[in-house]
Amino acid sequence: MSKVAVVSGGSRGIGAAVCEALARDGFTVIIDYRVSREKAEALEKSLKSRGFNAEAYCCDVRDEEAVKGLFEYVAGKYGRIDVLVNNAGISHYGLLTDVSCTEWDDIFDTNVKGAFLMCREALKSMIWQKSGRIVNISSMWGICGASCEAAYSSSKSAVIGLTKALAKEVGPSGITVNCVAPGAVQTDMMRELSDGTREMLIEETPLGRLGTPADIAEAVAFLVSDRASFITGEVISSNGGMVI
Ligand code: NAP
Repeated sequence: MSKVAVVSGGSRGIGAAVCEALARDGFTVIIDYRVSREKAEALEKSLKSRGFNAEAYCCDVRDEEAVKGLFEYVAGKYGRIDVLVNNAGISHYGLLTDVSCTEWDDIFDTNVKGAFLMCREALKSMIWQKSGRIVNISSMWGICGASCEAAYSSSKSAVIGLTKALAKEVGPSGITVNCVAPGAVQTDMMRELSDGTREMLIEETPLGRLGTPADIAEAVAFLVSDRASFITGEVISSNGGMVI
C-alpha cells in the first residue's frame, strides 16, 4: 500500500500544487478543504484519471472534532498517516490599529490552532508508526514581518515556533517537522493586490518574478522525500531571494 499524505487546504493554490506533487511521487493524497468542494473533487477526479490515488475530504482545521474525525477516517480507511502538510491559511491586510479581535482570532484559529490540531491528531498515528513527516507552510513575513500584516506575520512566526519545538519533541520518534516559508506566490491570496503592488513585489524579488504554487510544492516534496531524512526543525525559504 502506498504512503498516505494529508494536505490541509488542498483544494486550490499552493495546497493543490502540493497534492499534485505528492500524488506524482506515489503518495495517496487526502485533499482537505473547507468550502471549495467542487475544486477539491475536481482535483481528486483529475488525479485519479491519471492513475494516482486521491480523496477529497471536508474538514475545517479550526474545528477540533472535525479534525479528530478526519484522522480517524484516514487511519481507519488507509491504516497509516505518513505525511501531514499544514497548508490551510488565511491572510489579512490592514493597520494594526484597525484589526478587530475577531479578525485576530480568525487568523490565529486557522493558521496556528489549525496546524496544532492537525499535528496533534496526525501524531497519534505517526508516533505509533515511529515515522512521519510534517511540513508546515509559514511565510517570509513570518521571518521578517510585513507592514500592515501584523496579525498574519505573527501567526506565521508562531508556525515557525511550533515547527522548531515539535521537531525536538518528536524527533526521537522518527518524525521530522519542517517549514516552507514562501515568498509572493501567484494564488487567490494575492487576488486583492493592485497591479502596482504586484509589480513592486516582482521588482523586489532578485529572481524577478512571482513564485508559482509548483515552486512551493517542490520544496514540500523534497522535505517529505527520503532525500531529506536528516533535516528537521528547518525553515526553507522559497522566495526568489526576496528575504535572505
Ligand atoms: P489560497 O489560494 O487562498 O488557498 C487557501 C487554502 O486554504 C484553500 O484551499 C482553502 O480551502 C484553505 N483553507 C482556508 N481556511 C481553511 C480552514 N479553516 N480549514 C480548511 N482549509 C482552509 O492560499 P495560498 O496562497 O495557496 O496559501 C496557502 C498557504 O501558503 C497559506 O498558509 C498561506 O498563508 C501561505 N502563503 C502564501 C503566500 C502567497 O503569496 N500566496 C505566501 C506565503 C505563504 P477552501 O477554499 O476549501 O476554504
